[in-house]
Amino acid sequence: MKKKIEVPKKIRLRFPPSPTGLLHIGNARTILFNYLFAKKMGGETVLRIEDTDTERSKLEYVQNIIDELHWLGLDWNEGPDIGGKFGPYKQSQRTDIYKRYLEQLLAEKKAYYCNCNAEELEAKRQDQQSRGLAPKYDGTCRDKNNTSGVIRLRVPSKKVVFVDLIRGEIESDAGLMGDIVIARHIDSALYHFAVVVDDYEMQISHIIRGEDHIANTPKHILLQEALGFPKLEYAHLPLMLNADKSKMSKRAGDVAVSDYHQAGYLPEALINFMVLLGWNPGTEQEIFSLKELEKEFSLEKVQKSGAVFNVQKLDFMNGLYIRQKSVPALTKLCASFLPEHNLPAKTVEKIVASCQGRMKKLSDITELADFFLKEKLDYDTALLAWDKMNREQVKDALLLCDKILRGLEKWEVAAIQEVLEKAAGENKGQIFWPFRIALSGKKASAPAPEIAEILGKEKTLQRIQDAIDKK
Ligand code: GLU
Repeated sequence: MKKKIEVPKKIRLRFPPSPTGLLHIGNARTILFNYLFAKKMGGETVLRIEDTDTERSKLEYVQNIIDELHWLGLDWNEGPDIGGKFGPYKQSQRTDIYKRYLEQLLAEKKAYYCNCNAEELEAKRQDQQSRGLAPKYDGTCRDKNNTSGVIRLRVPSKKVVFVDLIRGEIESDAGLMGDIVIARHIDSALYHFAVVVDDYEMQISHIIRGEDHIANTPKHILLQEALGFPKLEYAHLPLMLNADKSKMSKRAGDVAVSDYHQAGYLPEALINFMVLLGWNPGTEQEIFSLKELEKEFSLEKVQKSGAVFNVQKLDFMNGLYIRQKSVPALTKLCASFLPEHNLPAKTVEKIVASCQGRMKKLSDITELADFFLKEKLDYDTALLAWDKMNREQVKDALLLCDKILRGLEKWEVAAIQEVLEKAAGENKGQIFWPFRIALSGKKASAPAPEIAEILGKEKTLQRIQDAIDKK
């Protein structure tokens, strides 16, 4: 086929996840950096599902990737039409395109068929290793003119150099690589080949990906040269590390975006947290909206050293974003984390408002609000005692609360607070603590008058009575 060397006129980036699992937080961060760079430069993005590994790729993972990217607000702006939205390109649907380019390389003798069998290759590999050599294919089939088998690229013995936008010049020796396999057969291109062809066909200008891909870049450059494609710009992002500095890819805990989504993290918080895993604005500012980042982001401020994933920081940020929500908006977000109930909408809003300041995750509402929704509370009687109060003193305090509140007409926080304060005088703890425990059954909760208003007079008095009767 005719070669067309075209320098892309536009800044174009790709989001290239492999659907071999749920969208990984590391991939989401990479996609975020691609997204931000494209936005900042007025460029375009595509979503490309890299499913050449047909055995490990699953449709449900493709859907998960799409859903979580939408949830994060990381949209792309080109792709096949799926119901009025841009869908992803899928490598599994591009076999014919790869075939054309494989045929081109075979015709030009830049690639060849190899039919060495697996045992032979393994024996040679072990022999090389035992002699202290780095294993590489010895080129047995290079000049055999085979007509079937796997397809290998004829790799020249030379230095490959590229300038990484984050790390500067990176050099490697292609002589150590050996002739790499680029397709299982003519209709089954492998990852390296598919990526290079797609980046060209999709007119990608910049590749921003994880540091773990640095070793792949020389292979991709050699393939581009063999195919006559123009050079691309590369930027390799720092690795994400666990708190103990081990690789995040080996993390035992949550690694999927959907784990965070389901646990009640907000997309705004996750975006803000992820961008700081490698990008440093160079100022004191830490809180950024996606819109702000679209203007502020720059590759120059991406660090080379590994970025530690600190869950406490994510929790802190999430709490901050939760507190910024309006009560009606937060109530909607909390709905799926509350058990079934038949409380009026306004009461639910009040419950959520009373928990808002304590929430780190949306899912925290389940526990923070459970006592509002339960009929009977279950807690240790000893909890009712403030300081060294004995059982009699606790009962007296509760009886006093009952007496005062029974006569109260205006059932509102301020009024409840006022009458109790008056009655308690100097001994606020002795009144407010047992009262709050009677209403919540918890060591920590919103203040008692707030809970009492939400519960309503009848339930409040009932809970005081339950506390008095408690064994
Ligand atoms: N599909 C690859 C991955 O999920 C990304 C490849 C690339 O960025 O070139 O790691």
